[in-house]
Amino acid sequence: MIKKKDTQESSSFDKELFKRSVLYNVKTLYRKTLEEATPQQIFQAVGYAIKDVVIDNWLTTHKEYDKQDPKTVYYLSMEFLMGRALGNNIINLQAYKPVKEAMDELGLDLNVIEDQEPDPALGNGGLGRLASCFLDSLSTLGYAAYGCGIRYRYGMFKQEIRDGYQIEVPDNWLVDGNPFELRRPEYAKEVKFGGYVNVRIDENGRSNFVQEGYQSVRAIPYDLPIVGYGNGIVNTLRIWDAEAIECFHLDSFDKGDYQKAVEQANLAKNIVEVLYPNDNHYAGKELRLKQQYFFISASVQEAIAKYMRKHDDIRKFYEKVTFQLNDTHPTVAVAELMRILMDEYYLTWEEAWNVTIKTCAYTNHTIMAEALEKWPIELFSRLLPRIYQIIEEINRRFIIKIQEMYPGNQEKIRKMAIIYDGQVKMAHLAIAAGFSVNGVARLHTEILKKQELRDFYEMMPEKFNNKTNGITQRRFLLHGNPLLADWVTAHVGSDWITDLPKISKLKIYADDEKCQQEFMNIKYQNKVRLAQYILEHNGIEVDPRSIFDVQVKRLHEYKRQLLNILHVMYLYNQLKDNPEMEFFPRTFIFGAKAAAGYYNAKMTIKLINSVADVVNNDPVINGRIKVVFIENYRVSNAELIFAAADVSEQISTASKEASGTGNMKFMLNGALTIGTMDGANVEIVEEVGAENAFIFGLSSDEVINFENNGGYDPTEIFNNDPDVRRVLMQLINGTFAPNDPDRFRTLYNSLLNTISTNKADMYFILKDFKAYAEAQRKVENAYRDEKRWARSAILNVACSGKFTSDRTIQEYVDELWHLDKVVLPKKVVGKDKTL
Ligand SMILES: *Cc1c(COP(=O)(O)O)cnc(C)c1O
Repeated sequence: MIKKKDTQESSSFDKELFKRSVLYNVKTLYRKTLEEATPQQIFQAVGYAIKDVVIDNWLTTHKEYDKQDPKTVYYLSMEFLMGRALGNNIINLQAYKPVKEAMDELGLDLNVIEDQEPDPALGNGGLGRLASCFLDSLSTLGYAAYGCGIRYRYGMFKQEIRDGYQIEVPDNWLVDGNPFELRRPEYAKEVKFGGYVNVRIDENGRSNFVQEGYQSVRAIPYDLPIVGYGNGIVNTLRIWDAEAIECFHLDSFDKGDYQKAVEQANLAKNIVEVLYPNDNHYAGKELRLKQQYFFISASVQEAIAKYMRKHDDIRKFYEKVTFQLNDTHPTVAVAELMRILMDEYYLTWEEAWNVTIKTCAYTNHTIMAEALEKWPIELFSRLLPRIYQIIEEINRRFIIKIQEMYPGNQEKIRKMAIIYDGQVKMAHLAIAAGFSVNGVARLHTEILKKQELRDFYEMMPEKFNNKTNGITQRRFLLHGNPLLADWVTAHVGSDWITDLPKISKLKIYADDEKCQQEFMNIKYQNKVRLAQYILEHNGIEVDPRSIFDVQVKRLHEYKRQLLNILHVMYLYNQLKDNPEMEFFPRTFIFGAKAAAGYYNAKMTIKLINSVADVVNNDPVINGRIKVVFIENYRVSNAELIFAAADVSEQISTASKEASGTGNMKFMLNGALTIGTMDGANVEIVEEVGAENAFIFGLSSDEVINFENNGGYDPTEIFNNDPDVRRVLMQLINGTFAPNDPDRFRTLYNSLLNTISTNKADMYFILKDFKAYAEAQRKVENAYRDEKRWARSAILNVACSGKFTSDRTIQEYVDELWHLDKVVLPKKVVGKDKTL
């Protein structure tokens, strides 16, 4: 019944050559033998050896791009949450087994080597991870692409948990060096800030707009290879570092020069210093706008320079280039493109606008009001005077268009203008200046059209479209869950690696008892692997036979980690009242970073850890409930966590989670979803069937209805439901904070008291509580029937085909980008390398 295992690996990888390369690198980098080298040094040596293999394909790819001149997408994003590169690169080179063997033969463990690599945490959460999955798919599908972003000196902070509280520690991810990056000073660009705009009439009678009295920095690109799976294609993630433009001229500086030099050096140092740790939240910091313009100006300058190296008519730029804006963060790109086209290539406004609106496309990622970027015009015009002038003119012309469509309708102008009330509204600019506005899941796109962006949709319906997000199965199954990956391949062949819908062939095994057992055994082994990680990192023993119930994602009130932990408190109360009740042991696993300034989010982390302290150590509970908070959630430990999950918690307030991608990673690894009808959960349930998930709670329409009518009254639930009341009272009676009973009062207040602009229980936690508890009872009952559970889990894997980012990227290509597929000449795909 089990088919012959398909070959997933290329045979042309030269193991002996590779081993010699590693030994050589240890010697030349560190003047050491393998025995003397530290684990970090061995990682570096292996990393450089892999880079040597990658670099030939990288060269060949770009030689081929030069020849074929394919249309190129620039994916502009403030965030790329790449995860570790070493294992992923080896996987995509189809060399995992020979490399592992080579390491074995050197007496090394590839897993241990991989663990030495820091996660390049240049992103917050889903938005940054999406960008990384997209790059993997673009290379694997053979499309020419650049990711453009910032080389943050310190990425997402490292989270430490001390006394149950989150502590933010700087993440100095570059201390030991990055073997995969390539510094490219030959492509450096100057980026100018501040000063004022002068108009000069030149000898041809043209107005020339020149920025004067500015400060500037030099943007230096670092390139990272993005290896396609098994096709020899290597695209580039280009992240920009900032350097001071001039050094001190010690012989001839006066006081003014000195001051200016110091200021420019500081500007350069500050710009790329840190990633702002906010997820779905706009903070309005001046430095953030500087970061945005810094990497956008450099990226747009280079995209145009690259185009002009091969073409002579800048008016046809859009035929070869698309800029995809990952949220509004890169939206200054539209004005920067206008600026260069007009001020440096002397296009008329109309010519430049024609290029811009055919080049730029915008992806919307959220309807959360607090995430909308609005810059005060004072700040914006002071920092980017020429860009501001251009946006003013875009706004002036856009308002004329609105007036033509809706004569005399001031309300439309108020709601849609790009500059209004003293603010520059970046979403409005992105919509007005792009050819496409896409949402990231079907429900989200419908909400955009009917609610949040309704006026824009009515004015220009042709721009609106949906692109349901996806994830790469290469990282989140092939690399993260090798046992399941091998099992899948043994049953349906290896096509799923580049064609995930083929995984649906697994459906016929869902009812096969032997397959069910094999599946549950693999899940068990992955749970043992995670239990080991938890023991090492938390010192908590968890039982791999218990249900692993997992919520890992950024901490945010709309994601409702609070609902989850309140339900744990409710279960704890039940077991305390009735220690003999039937109860299937459950391990509640959390992982989440909170934005450093987000008080309720940080107190929710403290609450989870406080509940863990009480419940994990209560002899009455006797290990039947365990609560674990995994420190420093990030891509590398996420891979272990998804593989080990039985239950996937996707419990956002309906309408608030635009898509979610964690939900897809769990599904791919055979976890069953407990969730609301929100984001991509809707489409997950559509694919797998409602009987293989646990759906509960208000619908998005119901939530939006409440919101449009002033919210709802949670005190009624508090007064009438003793279980809910008891749990809420435990937030303020010291049950989980004996020395400080008021510790969780703000969480209590967020649920029951209307505070300034915030409604009581804005996120409908109490409203959904009973339905959630009921859904959780169904989870427990379902898990007792192991065969039925295994069947559902296998069906989740089998029905995950839609959620590959390969499908998402193909939709972007077919409907928006129209890229040319690049195929490398046969001979270069096989890796007959000389190192
Ligand atoms: C996938 C992923 C996310 C996004 O998770 P959601 O549940 O969709 O919010 C965040 N962080 C990491 C490390 C991820 O891998």
